[in-house]
Parts: sequence; structure tokens; C-alpha cells
Amino acid sequence: MAVAFSALIEQDQAKEMLRRAIGSGKLAHAYLFRGPAGIGKKTAAQALAATLNCRSHQLFTTPDRKPAASTKPILPRPDLLEACGACPSCRKFASGNHPDFMEILPEGAAIKIEQIREIKKALVFPPLEAGNRVVLLAEVHTMRREAANSLLKVLEEPPPSTIFILTGDEAGGILPTIVSRCQVIPFFPLSVTHLANILVLQEKIDQAEATTLAAVAEGSLSRARILRQKNLLNLRREVLIMLLTYTQEAPAATVEVLRLAEKCAKLEKYLDDFLDLLSSFFHDLTVYSAAHDHQKAADHRFPPRPLINQDLAPLLAHAKDRWNLRDDPDTFSQHREEQLRRAKSQLKRNCNRTLICEVLFFDLF
Ligand SMILES: [Zn+2]
Repeated sequence: MAVAFSALIEQDQAKEMLRRAIGSGKLAHAYLFRGPAGIGKKTAAQALAATLNCRSHQLFTTPDRKPAASTKPILPRPDLLEACGACPSCRKFASGNHPDFMEILPEGAAIKIEQIREIKKALVFPPLEAGNRVVLLAEVHTMRREAANSLLKVLEEPPPSTIFILTGDEAGGILPTIVSRCQVIPFFPLSVTHLANILVLQEKIDQAEATTLAAVAEGSLSRARILRQKNLLNLRREVLIMLLTYTQEAPAATVEVLRLAEKCAKLEKYLDDFLDLLSSFFHDLTVYSAAHDHQKAADHRFPPRPLINQDLAPLLAHAKDRWNLRDDPDTFSQHREEQLRRAKSQLKRNCNRTLICEVLFFDLF
């Protein structure tokens, strides 16, 4: 398990906020690490849990909340944020089984109310090692209202020596009452250049492929890895070429729709990421159309925006002609993005994946 802040790329604001909280000894009972997926929120949460329990830190306390007897650093600390990595607590974190660290991940698509009930039961007892018990709840935006309300009750009356770290996206799926109970630490997408450099180093791919992946992944390392491992960029191209080549009525279109729907359905849980990719293409279509509309391009109220799918510029040009988007590209794209959102919500409800894709592709022609 990655338990060091050194594994966290960029996110200087988050690091500074946490460093100040640790330095002042004023930690909140609950934090919400908020930002897009795949940019290090969980890594930061695990690292913070390790730091709060590291025995070389002043923050490690005995049951009566006094600093532990031996607070002398075992190793010199390079940074106030970083755990020593060598004390008994740090070693337990490294092996992934610290008794005072609870990690709750979505079961299937969401964190369920049963999981919150389990936490409540466990929190009745004091921390086992008398440090700071940390409860990490990942992707809290997936919680339904029932589970969220149950969690809210815990946050309203937090047990002693317990710190909650919630992670979630910024799309508004988190109950405002939960947000207001937490100190929000913002996390931001990585820059395309930085992410591309990481991909070149870690994934051993060339700069051009890395730059394309970084742009399409919108600053998320984990998303870039999924795109690559599942070959999603090629599949995206195949589906778009189908949409741009045929009309809905063409017999060959039906054959292609059935073939590609089956292929997409095999992505299983990654189908959701794939639909996001298609959505980003339609988003790009408005950006591309605005950049090629002489009036808008000259109007300073519409500054040029970068394309996400930079590698698909020729297809965007083709799409603009194919769908005749001179007059109102925004409405066209919004309509397509709405169809994609509907497909995503059907996926969440466990509808048949092949069928979802077939209906969607016919709608998108
Ligand atoms: Zn330590």
C-alpha cells in the first residue's frame, strides 16, 4: 500500500493545508478530499492516516491524549507531513493491516448502508493502538441518501480519537450536510504535460501516445492507465468512424452497431469510462465548431478552449460536416451528451450492457 505523501503528484494546495493542520495540531474530525478520480486522493488519505499514527510524530498520543512517552524521531523526518516509514505503526500501514485504519470502498457501484452500519459497530470500541484511528470512506459521491444520512449521524457525533477522511468527486453527488461537516481539501487534475511525462516514465510509452492519453484522461493518472490497458482510444475511434460513415437506415450500420455494441459490452465496468470518452468527443465538437466559426473565433467573450481529444481533429472536422453543425452545435452536442448520460444511468441500474450500447449507438447516428 502506498502510504507516503512522496507518492502524491502535484496537489501542493492539499499538501500545504494538511501540513498546516498537522503543524498546528488542529486537526478536523472529518476531511473531504474532493476532486476528479485518479489524481491521488486515496493515496493522500492513506498517507495522512500513516502520518497521524507514526510514532516518530508528536501526533501519536496515548489513551489519555498525552503524547506518547517516546516521541523522539526514529528516523529524521524530511517533512512534517511524511510518516517515518520505519516505526511499528508505519510498518503495519506498509503491510496493509493497521488495526486502527478502516478503509471503506464502494461495494459494487456504491457504498452501502450496511457498510456504514459496520463502521458504527466498530467505532463503539476505542482505537486498538491508542493512536489516531482513521476511517477512510472512498468515493462517497456514490452513496445513496439512506447511507449518506446514516454516515451524517456519525459525523455529527464523532467518536473520540477518530478522524474521518472522505474522498469524492466535485460533481455535486455528495449531500451538502455531509460536505458542511467536513473540512474540504481540494484536489486538482494533473497538468497534461506532467501527466504525459509520468506516463512516458512509468508506462514506457512514447511521448506522442503519452500526450494523447494525458489529454483524453483529463489529468487523471488512473484514468490514463485504464484507457491504455483496455485499449479504449482505439475502440472510441472505431465507434466514431461507424457513426460518421453510415446513416442510421443503412443495413451495414445495423451490422456494425451489433458488432461494436457486443465489443463495448465486454468492457464490463469500464464501459462507463468508455461512455465518458464518447461524451468528451461531443463536448469537443462544440469547442471545435466555435474555433472554426469566424464570428465566434473573433469574439473575445469566447476564448479558445483546448480540445480533449486532440488526436481526433480530422474526425471532428468530418463530424461538423456530417451533422451540419454550422448553426447550433451546442444544442446538438448537449442532446448527444444527454443520451450518453441516460446510458450511464441505465448502466448503474444494471440494465443489459449490450442492449444499452445498441440503443445508444442508433440514437447517436
Ligand atoms: Zn512511523
